Amino acid sequence: MSDVIVMTDKRCRAEDKRIINNKAVDVNQLVPIKYTWAWQYYLDACANHWMPQEISMQRDIEQWKGGAFSEEEMRVIKRTLGFFTTADTLVANNLVLAVYRHISAPECRQYLLRQAFEEAIHTHAYQYIPQSLGMDEGEMYNMYREIPSIHDKDEFEARLTVDLIKPGFETESFHGRQKLLDNLIGYSAIMEGIFFYASFVMLLSFGRTNRLPGACEQVQYILRDESMHLNFGLDLINTIKEENPDIWTQKFQDQAVQKIRRGVELEIRFGQDCLPNGLLGMTHGMLDDYIKHVADRRLEKLNLPKQFNTPNPFPWMSEIIDLRKEKNFFETRVTEYQVGGTLEWD
Ligand code: FE
Repeated sequence: MSDVIVMTDKRCRAEDKRIINNKAVDVNQLVPIKYTWAWQYYLDACANHWMPQEISMQRDIEQWKGGAFSEEEMRVIKRTLGFFTTADTLVANNLVLAVYRHISAPECRQYLLRQAFEEAIHTHAYQYIPQSLGMDEGEMYNMYREIPSIHDKDEFEARLTVDLIKPGFETESFHGRQKLLDNLIGYSAIMEGIFFYASFVMLLSFGRTNRLPGACEQVQYILRDESMHLNFGLDLINTIKEENPDIWTQKFQDQAVQKIRRGVELEIRFGQDCLPNGLLGMTHGMLDDYIKHVADRRLEKLNLPKQFNTPNPFPWMSEIIDLRKEKNFFETRVTEYQVGGTLEWD
């Protein structure tokens, strides 16, 4: 895929493109575009650009240092942020080191490059928030090695990356193609589709009562980006399935469902660990139902059987996710990403 460039008069045709094992096609030629959905994700993601330092943390700092939070609330905030400090780095490393080289459609790579930058922005936000609040950074960055409920989620994901970066891994064999799909399900459906959501709902609950407004504004932007990562990932999986129907066996589907069920168990355990007694108007039962509800949405999109059929106890989360559809979402923003005026050509 990164072969020398050979002279040829055989031109790249859209209909020859494949998401993986695209031997016939030049990975450097974005056009002609076949996967228009992937290009659209790229354009939409660029239209949503933001940076953490544009958002003031002043009120959050006053609240945090002014004793506005109970011990239990501080535990939730630290644990969810502690999970996030390393979570987007894990996703970014998987994307760049394990997945990217096996995705051979340039329009899909174009979105993955944008996504990789967004993962860096999220990692930046999760550095900016704890630093602004004066949290113990050693404690935050080591939670994934020290807190079992966080460790177990991350270890579940990291194993999927290790398999793909082993020397000799390829995506031509039946086994290799299934492994890649397994990794994508693990990261898109489970990491970005389930493991982020208990933390999103817990953190954003503070914003609903005007607490941690700066942190919550950033988390809203992240949630909007993440819902695109998730949906792109699921579209990518579904397209690979269509192009490689032989790997989507009943056995593989059953294993995927079991993995997603395991992801739900780990996320429920993490939620209980963050909120040992319930808080912020949410009980364990509500949080568990929410995690199961989002897992069912991921299963449905992958055309796998729903497992839980629980109602959504937090309809306001859907409203926040849907905010991205509104044009005036950025009206409060001061920064414009039109930087041409700052260039000097002399
Ligand atoms: Fe992401």
